[in-house]
Amino acid sequence: MNDYDVVIIGSGPAGLSCARTLARSNLSVLVLEKNDQLGKKICSGEISPKVLPDEKFDRGHPWKSMVVGTDTTKHTVHFDHPYLWTIGRYEFESYLMSKTDADIHFSELVTEITNKYVKTDKAKYSYKYLVGADGSFSKVREFLSLPTKHIVGWAFHVVLDKPANEFHLYWLPKSFPKCYGYVMSKNRSKTMIGVATTGENFDHDFARRTKIWVENQFSLDTALLRSESMKGNADYRGWNFGNIFLVGDAGGFLNPLTTEGIYYAVKSGEGVAKHILGNSGGQKIMNKLVSTHKWQVLIFDLATNTKLPFCWIINWILQDPRKGVRRKIFDFVLWKLIA
Ligand SMILES: Cc1cc2nc3c(=O)[nH]c(=O)nc-3n(C[C@H](O)[C@H](O)[C@H](O)COP(=O)(O)OP(=O)(O)OC[C@H]3O[C@@H](n4cnc5c(N)ncnc54)[C@H](O)[C@@H]3O)c2cc1C
Repeated sequence: MNDYDVVIIGSGPAGLSCARTLARSNLSVLVLEKNDQLGKKICSGEISPKVLPDEKFDRGHPWKSMVVGTDTTKHTVHFDHPYLWTIGRYEFESYLMSKTDADIHFSELVTEITNKYVKTDKAKYSYKYLVGADGSFSKVREFLSLPTKHIVGWAFHVVLDKPANEFHLYWLPKSFPKCYGYVMSKNRSKTMIGVATTGENFDHDFARRTKIWVENQFSLDTALLRSESMKGNADYRGWNFGNIFLVGDAGGFLNPLTTEGIYYAVKSGEGVAKHILGNSGGQKIMNKLVSTHKWQVLIFDLATNTKLPFCWIINWILQDPRKGVRRKIFDFVLWKLIA
């Protein structure tokens, strides 16, 4: 048995953020990661400016304009500072890791959790505090007997082998209710063009309509369209369970509106680490995250309910979000709830 003060399961943004906030404390910290290296998650690495705003690191490509389209309109909206950056998962996680002094064990799958220790396929580790930073299918969450209602997302898109040079978002309530169309980076070197939706199963009619839309909008070869699915956890049910904590996707902090989760993972990792260190700022961070999350879930429920006039308000704003009241509302939502 190896003894640690804090054992963190998962070396994603949540686990690494927690580990780096605990750096230089007098606590011994271990991070256990089943993958053999960082950044293996197949997902885009878009981060908003609220991610570590005071730190200088290579954030990648800045996005300062956005093409916004509806069923019938298309406009470019400009900003004087970036609302998003394309950094890439590996680069971001490597930056976080460079700031930790924890022991990080790769290629160690956690197979068993008890109130006293964590067992992997290689060893057994006792803990005083356990942090579940193990993503949407968290074993720590399972140990706490918390159910999870996953958000299932489907993307049907073309992935081009070149960096994105534009960022587009389309709101298409007539042809694609509950979906959005996009052109955005997959990572620093690839571009995705297609439509995303939610639902338990892949919908073949959705695929047929996506083909037509992609062909008409972008004149691309639709034989290149591929489906990708994701299961995320926006089902928040608590973060503090005595000496066991849940952060990031394990805690359900994903923003269901945008599936943005990196910021919430980083911030919740920081909040829990401060709480473990006895710093009252930790509780404040977590209270704020929980309150923001509740708002996001409420807005997500409203926006995906096509029977509500809410959809038509969005449609009205996006028909020309460049000036006047529409621009004010557009900016408010973007900066307060998304970026
Ligand atoms: C397709 C897709 C695209 C996305 N794009 C973006 C984006 O552009 N911007 C954004 O902000 N968010 C995005 N997200 C959401 C974002 O990826 C997550 O919210 C974020 O990764 C959560 O970080 P985390 O540290 O909580 O979990 P994760 O990043 O999932 O990390 C969990 C870690 O735990 C490890 N682990 C799990 N189980 C065990 C175990 N039993 N033993 C040992 N290790 C284990 C995993 O290997 C993993 O490394 C996207 C999600 C998806 C699915």
